[in-house]
Amino acid sequence: MNQEIRLRFAPSPTGALHIGGLRTALYNYLLAKKLGGKFILRIEDTDQTRFVEGAEKYIIDSLIWAGLVPDEGVGFDGPYGPYRQSERTAIYKENVQNLINKGYAYYAFDTPEELEKMRAELATEANTMPKYDYKSRLKMKNSLTFSKEDTENYLQSGKPYVIRLCVPVNEKVQIKDIIRGEVSFQSEELDDKVLIKSDGLPTYHLANVVDDRLMKISHVVRGEEWLSSTAHHVLLYRYFGWEAEMPEFAHLPLILKPNGKGKLSKRDGAEFGFPVFPIDWKKDNDYFPGFREFGFLPEAVLNFLALLGWNSGTEQELFSLHEMIQNFSLEQIGKGGARFDFDKAKWFNAQYIQKSDPEIIKREILKLYKEQNLDPNETQINIIYSLYKERVHLLTEFYSQAKYIVTDQFDLNKDFVEKKWNNDAYEKYLRLIEDLKNLDNWTKERLEPVLKNFMEKESLKMGEVLPSLRVMLSGTPMGPDIYNMILALKREDLLERIEKNLEKLKTAK
Ligand code: GLU
Repeated sequence: MNQEIRLRFAPSPTGALHIGGLRTALYNYLLAKKLGGKFILRIEDTDQTRFVEGAEKYIIDSLIWAGLVPDEGVGFDGPYGPYRQSERTAIYKENVQNLINKGYAYYAFDTPEELEKMRAELATEANTMPKYDYKSRLKMKNSLTFSKEDTENYLQSGKPYVIRLCVPVNEKVQIKDIIRGEVSFQSEELDDKVLIKSDGLPTYHLANVVDDRLMKISHVVRGEEWLSSTAHHVLLYRYFGWEAEMPEFAHLPLILKPNGKGKLSKRDGAEFGFPVFPIDWKKDNDYFPGFREFGFLPEAVLNFLALLGWNSGTEQELFSLHEMIQNFSLEQIGKGGARFDFDKAKWFNAQYIQKSDPEIIKREILKLYKEQNLDPNETQINIIYSLYKERVHLLTEFYSQAKYIVTDQFDLNKDFVEKKWNNDAYEKYLRLIEDLKNLDNWTKERLEPVLKNFMEKESLKMGEVLPSLRVMLSGTPMGPDIYNMILALKREDLLERIEKNLEKLKTAK
């Protein structure tokens, strides 16, 4: 094993970073920090056809929001750069030349039509998708079948060509995966993967192996979809002469849909009504909400993501980043997929809202209101925080549930108006307003007898009065203790508001 501990997160900038990607980044970060090493961000942008403008910035912004700040990488510098693969083309070319010289890679000149033809000709019922491999390569146009001279001429002609890995026959390719144990492949199962594409850029396989080597990566921790590629990677390490110092591998289980059926995808977010991206992603007509905009604290997101796959071996559920670093190990990651549960994610967020520094939460509250062009004063922020911090699951609920403290611009709950409100009570509430007007120096102790008296006198039950008053005050029938709600507003404002909303209730019916 390499001596230095260096882990990389190596996303391709093909769109927004899915939370599965953020979890991969988190696990890399945790292990790097636990072992006293470095966390590196490498951008794998060699596939020009899938490149999406803005995706790289999105990835960096997401990592920063989550608090997983790279020690090295794109946007962070470091001694092993450049960290963007599109800037390393010469390095790959030089390395692949080495493989060609040793006979481990070869030039292939087949056109797409010729490849199609080969597939059609070799297809059998048992093998409908014949590969470019040890069986077919000698029937194709490449430097194995061309003379040296023809090969030279072809290369000079300027016509497109690719470079392929010459996969051996009858070799066992073994991967020691920290999570999955030994995984082995027989080399005949593997195709002659393209290493350099016709546009001169490397494929993922070549660039990934060369960079992991040159960037001195000690552990490769990535999604399980890359496990089968690892067989080719091991062959590359072998042929480059680096096999003895290969990184250690760990392939992470999938994050599954809430119903456990299949991988959580970006479309599931829209379908189930929750975010699957760390922060908002907007591009052309594409819009996907982020956990941040939904009202999640980054600490909560990291905590629930960590536990989607990692089992700390204890009952403890709440882990600060520091505690995660201390407790984390790849050996405690399960092989099976982990089901995403949005309610559980919200539970984590509620815990973090309660235990975070109040000043941080109050700042978030102020930000939310400012976004709505409202300007609550310090007293109002304090009231919103203390009345709601144990009631909300999302930061945004500090606005949706508590905005009545700052503004009287809200709608009256439709369901309540239609199903619960009865205009017979109208006159009764007018009398309550009179009673309230006659009361000064409002405190809970002074208000309580007035309300009790009112209920008795008018033969109304608590279950009718509290929701009705809450609707007049805040628009919704639910909320914290009614006296706290009343006292959250100025006496004059409150009286004016319930008078106005009582009229609204009457006319809405
Ligand atoms: N570029 C690959 C991705 O987008 C990286 C896989 C790896 O970590 O090797 O996930």
